[in-house]
Amino acid sequence: MIRIGLTGGIGSGKSTVSDLLAARGAVLIDADRIVREIQAPGGVAYQPIIDRFGPGVVAADGTLDRPALAAIVFADEAARKELMAITNPHVGRIMAERMAAEADTDNVVVLDIPLLAEGGKARYGVGGVVVVDCPIDTALRRLVDIRGMDEEDARRRMASQATREERVAVADFVVDNSGDLAHLTSEVERAWAWIQSLPAGGTPPD
Ligand code: ATP
Repeated sequence: MIRIGLTGGIGSGKSTVSDLLAARGAVLIDADRIVREIQAPGGVAYQPIIDRFGPGVVAADGTLDRPALAAIVFADEAARKELMAITNPHVGRIMAERMAAEADTDNVVVLDIPLLAEGGKARYGVGGVVVVDCPIDTALRRLVDIRGMDEEDARRRMASQATREERVAVADFVVDNSGDLAHLTSEVERAWAWIQSLPAGGTPPD
């Protein structure tokens, strides 16, 4: 197993890069998807979140009202930390279990970790960190024009994340997503070649 971490700011193109890497044979372990699994009714984080944030974060169908929860935590740093304290230990454990299942394979395992720059790269024991980078205005335009996100909401979320410079500082390889999809595809080809050159196993977590 070659283990790499993938990160990037909101709207930078992480999911698109993940898909392009998966098309080349990478196994994806996606922190956001795990968060959604554990926050679903019956998931380990579901009830603790309701206990902490109240019935206002439950939608009519009994699932968590993620926009309501996001509105609370993006407006209140202490609340955001509490939510992370509820979910992060489970996310870490489940990622470790999924990695263990790949340990004896030759697969490239890509850990898609949105807050890797914020948490410190050593924690995940990856052999290399790929950062998807693009100008803030480009990410904002994609989120607002393509995804239909509210501009103020997108700006608020960006402000709560590591800066572009902080994120690039943790990178071992930067994928430039300032251009079109053809340019991004050639960047992913370059990243894939670099990933293949890494030693198997990654580094032990500290
Ligand atoms: P989030 O942080 O919200 O999960 P993300 O970093 O995973 O976002 P994507 O979902 O990959 O970002 O990209 C955001 C949007 O921009 C998507 O609709 C995607 O199709 C589009 N997009 C990404 N890269 C490009 C590009 N180079 N050219 C045009 N559109 C792009």
